Amino acid sequence: MSKYWSAVVRGLTPYVPGEQPKIADLIKLNTNENPYPPSPAATAAIAAAVDGALRLYPDPNADTLKAAIAAHHGLKPAQVFVGNGSDEVLAFVFQGLLQHEQPILFPDITYSFYPVYCGLYGVQYKTVPLDEGFRIRVADYAQPNGGVILPNPNAPTGCLLSLEEIETLLQANTASVVVIDEAYIDFGGASAAALVDRYPNLLVVQTFSKSRSLAGMRVGFALGNAELIDGLERIKNSFNSYPLDRLAQAGATAAMEDRAYFEQTRQAVIDSRERLNDELAALGFEVLPSAANFVFARHPKRDAAQLAASLRERKIIVRHFKTARIEQFLRITIGTDEQCGALVKALKEILGA
Ligand code: PMP
Repeated sequence: MSKYWSAVVRGLTPYVPGEQPKIADLIKLNTNENPYPPSPAATAAIAAAVDGALRLYPDPNADTLKAAIAAHHGLKPAQVFVGNGSDEVLAFVFQGLLQHEQPILFPDITYSFYPVYCGLYGVQYKTVPLDEGFRIRVADYAQPNGGVILPNPNAPTGCLLSLEEIETLLQANTASVVVIDEAYIDFGGASAAALVDRYPNLLVVQTFSKSRSLAGMRVGFALGNAELIDGLERIKNSFNSYPLDRLAQAGATAAMEDRAYFEQTRQAVIDSRERLNDELAALGFEVLPSAANFVFARHPKRDAAQLAASLRERKIIVRHFKTARIEQFLRITIGTDEQCGALVKALKEILGA
């Protein structure tokens, strides 16, 4: 605390990201990164962009990247917004599209950055409880609100809503913006991008951090009606004209265009998830059905915090949240089969199985 801080800074409760350890040879299954490297076409494009042109500002509108994203999703470039990671896109969404008279709605168990943005921008919110099976019940969102935001699949549960359920949500909330945060959609769900042309109140947010293995580059995007996108552009152009640097624009465009590599790596993660699911179940874990690149699991006889600590002693880090209702769960990122194998071996030792 400093006497120089503004009242805004004094009132903030910042988000705490998962640990990025400085120690080598840890098996890192705590922040939902992709275990595979980015597309070789992406790293080549980034390398090729390292030249004298770096003296020039990048394209403020990232037109080439927007065109590649639009083509991938069958939309127009005017329906695409890009930002410095989907976290930045979400920040603009909270400020530009979710700040209204009525409180916004999001699940009680969800991405913990949402209440942080509400704190930063003074957005009132109300949380809607997940059901007993830790699922989102869309019928519970048919109530007056200033907007709705939820991840699909949800984080940290991994549970997926169908496109029919998303449509029900959109139809019940035509007076407000419904934001579907699809950070993990490529690992098992159908994207609501297919609904953008039919619902002017829909905004879909995606990222290059997970299914395109570019968390270190920070590129995220939103898809929606051109007027919603224009609202985000107005915020962006009042904040930072060049959120995506030349290397990020080059790398993300190449990653989006390398469809074969994307399909291959996301399928490898999905296959590993299904194997890990079975192995955890065989060890007595209850594993929630996941459509993401992580699983959310609890052991009926073992304390989750102790399990996480014992794994750490064996150089494996997973995520544990000290949050009501989920304090006995571990969120485990899907690694390579080798990493998943090391996790299962360590758990067998810890459980004495
Ligand atoms: N949404 C959800 C649900 C997430 O879990 C994350 C990753 N922490 C993000 C958005 C942000 O991802 P990024 O800023 O890397 O695009």
